[in-house]
Amino acid sequence: MAKTARGQAAKPAKMVYYFGKTKTEGKGLGKPLLGGKGVNLAEMTSIGLPVPPGFTITTEVCDQYYKAGKKLPAGLMDEVHQTIAILEKELGKKFGDDENPLLFSVRSGAAVSMPGMMNTILNLGLNDAATEGLANATKNPRFAYDAYRRLINMFGDVVMEMDHHQFETAFDKIKQKYKVTEDTDVPAEGLKDLCDAYKAVFKKHTGQEFPQDPYRQLELAIEAVFGSWNTNRAVRYRQIENIRGLLGTAVNVQSMVYGNMGDDSGTGVAFTRNPNTGENKFFGEFLINAQGEDVVAGIRTPLPVAEMPKWNKEIHKELLEVKETLETHYKEMQDIEFTIERGKLFMLQTRTGKRTGVAAVKIAVDMVKEGLIDEKTAVLRVPANDLTQLLLPSFKTTARNAADVLARGLPASPGAAVGKLAFTAEEVKERAAAGEKVILVRRETSPEDVEGMHAAAGILTSTGGMTSHAAVVARGWGKCCVAGAGEISINEKAKKITVGGKSFGVKDTISLDGTTGEVMVGEVETQEPTLAGDFRKLMEWADQYRRLRVRTNADTPADSKRARDFGAEGIGLCRTEHMFFESDRIMHIRSMILANNEDDRRKALKKLLPFQRKDFEGIFKAMQGLPVTIRLLDPPLHEFLPHDAKAQKEMAEELGIKPAEVKARAEQLHEQNPMLGHRGCRLSVTYPEILEMQVRAIVEAAINCAKKGTAAEPEIMIPLVGTAAELELLRKQVEATIEQTKKDKKHEGDLPILIGTMIEIPRAALTADQIAEHADFFSFGTNDLTQLTFGYSRDDVGTFLPDYLAQDILHVDPFQSLDATGVGQLVEMGVSKGRTEKQKLKCGICGEHGGDPASIHFCDGAGLDYVSCSPFRVPIARLAAAQVALGKKVSDM
Ligand code: ADP
Ligand code: MG
Ligand code: MG
Repeated sequence: MAKTARGQAAKPAKMVYYFGKTKTEGKGLGKPLLGGKGVNLAEMTSIGLPVPPGFTITTEVCDQYYKAGKKLPAGLMDEVHQTIAILEKELGKKFGDDENPLLFSVRSGAAVSMPGMMNTILNLGLNDAATEGLANATKNPRFAYDAYRRLINMFGDVVMEMDHHQFETAFDKIKQKYKVTEDTDVPAEGLKDLCDAYKAVFKKHTGQEFPQDPYRQLELAIEAVFGSWNTNRAVRYRQIENIRGLLGTAVNVQSMVYGNMGDDSGTGVAFTRNPNTGENKFFGEFLINAQGEDVVAGIRTPLPVAEMPKWNKEIHKELLEVKETLETHYKEMQDIEFTIERGKLFMLQTRTGKRTGVAAVKIAVDMVKEGLIDEKTAVLRVPANDLTQLLLPSFKTTARNAADVLARGLPASPGAAVGKLAFTAEEVKERAAAGEKVILVRRETSPEDVEGMHAAAGILTSTGGMTSHAAVVARGWGKCCVAGAGEISINEKAKKITVGGKSFGVKDTISLDGTTGEVMVGEVETQEPTLAGDFRKLMEWADQYRRLRVRTNADTPADSKRARDFGAEGIGLCRTEHMFFESDRIMHIRSMILANNEDDRRKALKKLLPFQRKDFEGIFKAMQGLPVTIRLLDPPLHEFLPHDAKAQKEMAEELGIKPAEVKARAEQLHEQNPMLGHRGCRLSVTYPEILEMQVRAIVEAAINCAKKGTAAEPEIMIPLVGTAAELELLRKQVEATIEQTKKDKKHEGDLPILIGTMIEIPRAALTADQIAEHADFFSFGTNDLTQLTFGYSRDDVGTFLPDYLAQDILHVDPFQSLDATGVGQLVEMGVSKGRTEKQKLKCGICGEHGGDPASIHFCDGAGLDYVSCSPFRVPIARLAAAQVALGKKVSDM
């Protein structure tokens, strides 16, 4: 036999592990062998909680079942028989007995809980005779037939894969016959009729009688659990979640307890703390006289556990004790399932409870205060991405649930936004300036819309994906955006949108949920994020452990300030072109572009200089002496020119030239592949005067700040370098401009300015040693690097990426999470080659990946000094960086 999940070559391995008063055989064995449910049933038993006894068949048996071509291994049912004998002795009941039958639940349970696995079968072991026996023994025929009909139904559904509608139809007929609507109102003889009807349905659809032999039932059920390991859904789920190396699922066979024995019985589910807020208060629901999944299935409305004392004070008290016992043992918030049989409590399941980001933070910090866990554990516990929820406004749950959903798009940038419809960026700016809250609605956005996007409360587009312009820009600002809501048709001229026959215009209000992608009618009430003390505390703990520094991508003083409040330690990327789109500057850049000679260009640039200088001063001031990496102009010039005739005409009028001139220049600048065209450092090579103006603005701003006592620390970054010669040339120009400006400003003393480059072209990574000769730092521009390494245009990837993800050609969008295998090699090569040339070369990363926990994991391993991300992701990056340093695996990020 091969190696087992116990890690040793085994003699014929034990296949069945008992848990009960007699003994807990599985104690100390892990989830790989017993599955999550099995381990926790054994553990709860061993810490003295009231768990109905039973046994777990190991995942190894599942493995053997498949290796033997779907056959249960020899000896398994013997071991099962022997274990059932122990159970029978402990409980004083017999499996298959006609008078007082022992019944089982059969439950699947792999090491990782996953959807698609087999649903639980309850009451297994009942047959015609045993049901009569049970009716007599309990003096409760209603209960007995209720149990039997549930078994036939579940067995049919789960083991025989029947369609459950076939059972529902039969049930409806019985309910009509007895003129009742609720399941619980059907009398005993009605349920007896129902069992006969169910058996007939079973026979009709399976061609067999419902099996009367309890051991046959059990064997079939065990096989069905193993079979569910390889259903399409389960296989697919493991692929998507990248769950590998599991042997299979375990099977838990457990003696039944009955929540449906009358009004002193019931069943419920609960969390040991509030999973929404994290409040340390038992939280859950229960149903009187119910069994199994009734609570979850929503057949009847359950009661909150807080109301349980009115029904049974003792049980409520006991549950609170269970909470203490579980949390002391697991040191984690638990999600439990319980049943009360005639006033006695039984525990059926426990596992780590899922929670919101807000709750995760509160629970982690509270548990440190309570002495349950230490600070490191608290830092590791909160999924970094879940902090998003703490950083954005959200809808109030009640309002959200009552809202009327109009359409669905992609959840492009989380948050909540409410406003009236506006159809152009211009219109947004005007109306927002007048104090109105508006939502920018467009088919797609482009760089020209940036100002309007910034002024909007939220952004809605009808085309474009998760990495469309709207999505990327909105995420950068932490602004709510729903993208690609294709059901909505936008009529920009008529200023209205139409969805499913309904139209909405500029006077109508809508609400956007950027977390779910839903578009709702009217104003849905929102709440501001609460950056409570717990959150700050957790961040302080995180900062003690991380090695990576965290900077931000910010283009304005406001963003810089916000990022600093979130803990940014500098700016890793300040994009100068964003400043050019503002209305008081765009004219100057446009006349620069239209200029026919260097002189005219210089004149236009001179007018831009004061604006740039002021912007930089504002940013330096906001950053208070922290480093600020400023990227010189990057986009192709045509992005600054209007493309439609009307706007071109307006522009011509403003500049006092002919519209034809504008049109001609726009056409001249047109490129087949602007992404690979005249942009980045190539602009500075052809138009050195642009570089000169920008560098001069930076230096003057730094000198002005120094005079006012703010030690600015600019780092000038030259984009899109592919050869050492480009950088060598441009570095000289930058240095000369710095010297000239210092002279002009009569600045003496030093002014520390680093000059470096972005590594975003594969050739730059390949020749990083040569490039490093001329660079004081590298910043990996992984957006372009990904684009150029994969050969995917980031702006067009939406057309095929969904298919790639659906077909598992890619597991994740490489623009969202850094492709460690491919693009990552270039980053690693860039760092190591760069540092061969310059041992202490400062290296960082800017771009979307800098705020993605899995990518941050990679960056730490690659030896980068810092990551840079949008202001709203700074806390996420700080936490993720700490988690990597504390040894969290990338698969757990
Ligand atoms: P899931 O993984 O879908 O939660 P479970 O195995 O926990 O499936 O079973 C679902 C429900 O079945 C449980 O919540 C519980 O109410 C019921 N159940 C399971 N085992 C027993 C049992 N031994 N006695 C009574 N009810 C049980
Ligand atoms: Mg289940
Ligand atoms: Mg369960």
